[in-house]
Amino acid sequence: MSDTANASSTETPAGGPPGALEAVIGLEIHVQLATRTKMFCGCELSFGEPPNTRTCPVCLGLPGSLPVANARAVHFGLMIGLALGSELAPRSIFHRKNYFYPDLPKGYQISQYDEPLCLGGSLGEVRIHRVHLEEDAAKLIHVGASGRIHGSDASIVDFNRGGTPLAEIVTEPDLRTPEQASEWLRLLRTTLRQLGVSDVNMEEGSLRCDANISLRPAGASELGVKTELKNMNSFRFIERGIRAEIARQEKLILGGGTVVQETLHFDPGSGAITSLRSKEEAHDYRYFPEPDLLPVRIEQAMIDAASADMTELPAARAERLRVEVGLSAESARLLAFRGELGDYFEAALAATADPAAPAQVLANWVTGELVSRLGEGEDPASSRVRPEAISALVGLVAEKHVSVGAGRQVLDRLVADGGDPEAIVAAEGLAAMDGGDELAGIVAAALEANADAATRVREGNPKAVGPIVGYVMRETKGRADGTEVSRLIHEQLGI
Ligand code: ADP
Ligand code: MG
Ligand code: ZN
Repeated sequence: MSDTANASSTETPAGGPPGALEAVIGLEIHVQLATRTKMFCGCELSFGEPPNTRTCPVCLGLPGSLPVANARAVHFGLMIGLALGSELAPRSIFHRKNYFYPDLPKGYQISQYDEPLCLGGSLGEVRIHRVHLEEDAAKLIHVGASGRIHGSDASIVDFNRGGTPLAEIVTEPDLRTPEQASEWLRLLRTTLRQLGVSDVNMEEGSLRCDANISLRPAGASELGVKTELKNMNSFRFIERGIRAEIARQEKLILGGGTVVQETLHFDPGSGAITSLRSKEEAHDYRYFPEPDLLPVRIEQAMIDAASADMTELPAARAERLRVEVGLSAESARLLAFRGELGDYFEAALAATADPAAPAQVLANWVTGELVSRLGEGEDPASSRVRPEAISALVGLVAEKHVSVGAGRQVLDRLVADGGDPEAIVAAEGLAAMDGGDELAGIVAAALEANADAATRVREGNPKAVGPIVGYVMRETKGRADGTEVSRLIHEQLGI
């Protein structure tokens, strides 16, 4: 046996113990583009209009009608490509992707195949495979028993959505965990929102995600057989769906079975994964170039126009917050990836000319204390706490006019009623106590009331200090400065 073979047979693969499996995840994201009209006709996009009122011969697929590509959709596609650092194809073409479905009246979807609008690129640590344009299908509504026809449950079709422009963004299989996948998708969503190319509303289906998942021995370079989880429409479901599918495949593989390539549905209600169909191959779709559409030729003027519409994107913002504002990488990412938090933080930062606290402290109050007091996903800008108010509050704490505990109480009041921190401090008597005799007296009382704890602290158990500090904070309604309390305790215990 050669040395190399010997070495590789005993080596622990990178990323886990021997025998461990690693997940590989690639995402396909469909984004409805916020154009005024549909991808290949002049019908306006629909926002809950009565069914089948936004239709014409083209999007109903009537014979003899001719599609024309939407220039605005191409413009948005180029903006997405620029944001992802893709190569913008000088020439791309549309293909017919043939399949039968009741919500696809032509019997084919116009999409792009081997010559897409954008190729390659990356967002964060994930490489982009391609971005292409296509049309959305109509909407099937399963009315079930309430619409029974000849004794069978019925489905009806609303063609308003049919023909809505979509950009499909396909990643390389660079993701490894469910959490990483959902965090990355948040970054993509924020990026698309910032670009203004879509309203990226997952519940309403303007952003939909398919996850491709496979397992392989940790550290291996070959990919395993993948399955595809279709159409997940919330970050939570995506995380849960991927986690469930990883567990299913792991059980299968560890039990000696093999994963079959197929398309799956995750039911967030029951947590069950069911097979929709065995995986189709490209040749099943009988792709061929759409004869009714001209190739898309990208001229410099179109790229210039797309560049002119670009705004600061989350990845760049995270970098600026880190380097120029001096935030930790973690805070910078959080604020940049949740753009509304970033906007609020920057407004608060700008509110004080010469802040008493470093920007990081303000960021901690915004992303920690404030966010935890708001509803899930609530935009702080729509809360009662004005950015100037939290900025002023952080200043009061930094200058020790109020203790951290009292500062938290002030924030409670701000969240409930709005207002001005200094006024709240005055009205509620929350100003910090100076370390004078009053506080020393309360510390002495706390030691007396917690004699056991005091003994244990004196004997060298610092954790026993809890009830003593708790007593002082209760007595002072949280106005005492924690450091000063600790100093007084030690002083009075003679340690
Ligand atoms: P398909 O032809 O089945 O659509 P593609 O090669 O076009 O497959 O890839 C579709 C998506 O699946 C991409 O996001 C890609 O990164 C991902 N993917 C491909 N192979 C794997 C794999 N073995 N494991 C996980 N994801 C994969
Ligand atoms: Mg696919
Ligand atoms: Zn139409």
